[in-house]
Amino acid sequence: MIWASAVSFVNARVAAEGRLEESVRFTSRILSIGERPRRGDTVVDLRGGVVLPGLVNAHDHLELNHYGRLKSRDRYENASEWIDDIRPRLSGDPAIRDGRAQSLTERLFIGGLKNLLAGVTTVAHHNPFYSELRRTMPIRVMRRYGWAHSFRLERQPAGARGEPGGDVAHRWRSTPPDAPFLVHLAEGVDADAQGELPRLEALGCLKPNTVIIHGVGIDGNGWRRVAEAGAGLVWCPASNAFLFGRTASVRELLDAGGHARTHVALGTDSRVTGSRDLLEELRVAYGATPVSHAELLDMVTTRAAALLRLPRSGRIVVNAPADLLVIPPFAPEPAAALLLTMRHDVRLVTVGGRPMVGDADLAAVFRARRVTVRPLRVDGAAKIADSGLVRRIAGCPIVEPGVSAR
Ligand SMILES: [Zn+2]
Repeated sequence: MIWASAVSFVNARVAAEGRLEESVRFTSRILSIGERPRRGDTVVDLRGGVVLPGLVNAHDHLELNHYGRLKSRDRYENASEWIDDIRPRLSGDPAIRDGRAQSLTERLFIGGLKNLLAGVTTVAHHNPFYSELRRTMPIRVMRRYGWAHSFRLERQPAGARGEPGGDVAHRWRSTPPDAPFLVHLAEGVDADAQGELPRLEALGCLKPNTVIIHGVGIDGNGWRRVAEAGAGLVWCPASNAFLFGRTASVRELLDAGGHARTHVALGTDSRVTGSRDLLEELRVAYGATPVSHAELLDMVTTRAAALLRLPRSGRIVVNAPADLLVIPPFAPEPAAALLLTMRHDVRLVTVGGRPMVGDADLAAVFRARRVTVRPLRVDGAAKIADSGLVRRIAGCPIVEPGVSAR
């Protein structure tokens, strides 16, 4: 039997818990950081390349990423207006009907692929944890969470099989206090949206495990109360801009809580309203509000993991799973390099030390981990990928734009 060997990245810039180290060794887990290779390691010179923790996408609806963006007018005041606008099209529009006819397994796979190709190794899916998510997802999907869709859809269908959005207070009460509770809140700019935070507070549901998705209608006063409660926000600026022409005043929340306490994460939302992927979302976020590169990197790694109570995600530490993203040295600082990275630039993504997709000059990593590869094209760039993943892509009836197995 031929054993997989450890991989040692050298001449790298490894973003490890706020430090920059030159090397990292891993098998399925991180073995050491900043240490020399050991005998038997497969040593890979990254020539200054940046090694980040696999990114965390804090908000997506994994089954809704193959329709493209949908709206019927330029601007909305509230997500409710958008829902009312879109609902007739869901059954009337032939393209949408075809999209809905695809099996849930295939739709979820495309959501997983969208995230993987952008360097995301953990995603927070908002909707029921469908049994299909246990199979064939190329990345980790958060398992332990409570959710309600929103006040608007409490008694209306929200899930892929018509599961209701859920009573917000009841769903919050049935979520363990150490698990995140996800809810779309204040998704709009009108008085209805502004009234949702006080409504949540009146129900006693603004607590440390409360994860507000969107928060566009929350003002500075509201953000102070959110920060005092120890609750957090998932910021989805691309979706907000698409629907409302503006986004949440994230700077006020960041400043209200102080860096140590405030949990702000970045999420793509689904492509029905959101960005193509988390790499694009980072650039939209940078342009939307005064936030630094370093704050944005935290929002897709450490802060997201803290908000979602995922202690093993979003960080490169010894013994953690080797969920890694390697990108080119586009800028001296890793966070700045990430802001310049598009998915065709991604050098390598590993999930639990298993290389999934990467550049052909990193084939040694796949060999070391005993992963057979096949070619994959991503936005015109020639890549190699886990042969099982490529077969899955080739067999999927839904085509991910820009991706082909030949
Ligand atoms: Zn959403």
